[in-house]
Amino acid sequence: MQIAKTRDVLRNAVDALRPQGAGRIALVPTMGALHEGHLTLVRRAREQADHVVASIFVNPKQFGANEDLGAYPRQLAADAAMLEAEGCALLWAPTVEEMYPPSFVTNVSVAGVSDGLCGAARPGHFDGVATVVCKLFNQVQPDIALFGEKDFQQLAIIRAMARDLDLIRPHVDAIIGVPTVREADGLAMSSRNRYLSPEQREQAAALPRAMRTAIAGLESGAPVADTLAALEADVVAAGFASVDYAVLADAASLTPLSALGAGPARLLVAGRIGGTRLIDNMAVNGSQG
Ligand code: AMP
Repeated sequence: MQIAKTRDVLRNAVDALRPQGAGRIALVPTMGALHEGHLTLVRRAREQADHVVASIFVNPKQFGANEDLGAYPRQLAADAAMLEAEGCALLWAPTVEEMYPPSFVTNVSVAGVSDGLCGAARPGHFDGVATVVCKLFNQVQPDIALFGEKDFQQLAIIRAMARDLDLIRPHVDAIIGVPTVREADGLAMSSRNRYLSPEQREQAAALPRAMRTAIAGLESGAPVADTLAALEADVVAAGFASVDYAVLADAASLTPLSALGAGPARLLVAGRIGGTRLIDNMAVNGSQG
């Protein structure tokens, strides 16, 4: 597996993978500190393309001033070994200066779907995500790109961006969402789980448990507001410091729902345990994922 750290090296490596434009390339963007969730994306990518390009870039633009940019785990050598073992062809690992030279002035902002949920809790976060993913798409020019449903709002934003900006590579239908990979106790895998103490790690499993209880209630007709309030109370009782949001939303538009309708819905929650912010989401109403 080749590791490209500059755009010139990347371009030559991508051209070498796809001589005369032949062969399909899948892109798996990540911030590194890889776990089974990321590796599952790489495996799905291999099934659907001839070559997999992964990227590792801890994107400063998507971290708020008081967030964990400095503390975010960085382990490029270990990550590269994992990607190589999964059959990844190329790793794009630019420096911050390579991605954002001093002259950089552009921002990609996706209105509407970015506004609520994590967008409300983390101002500017999704502009940072959309900007870097737009750049990654242009740099690598993949035929398909894979993202986790773990970051459900992010996936919706990237799809909207691909549609609105007429991205050809990958176009909107070529952006593939992969179901969340979980630990044995149900906690969604996340690079941030390593911030948790053993006690917090145990408490964190209360989040998916409470979400499943809430979904069972919603699907058997319990009122939405009461169910969400009970979910918040459950996770706080289990040791979470606070809940940023617990929302039932339309699965496509992410518009909050006050009652379950006929269409696919999603339960999305963000909570803080100690100083760590965890997010999760699950399908409601028999919808997929
Ligand atoms: P990150 O490194 O956290 O930016 O994540 C990189 C990609 O991996 C994103 O598309 C995430 O949605 C995806 N991802 C992260 N955790 C999981 C998980 N537990 N299951 C599936 N995909 C995941």
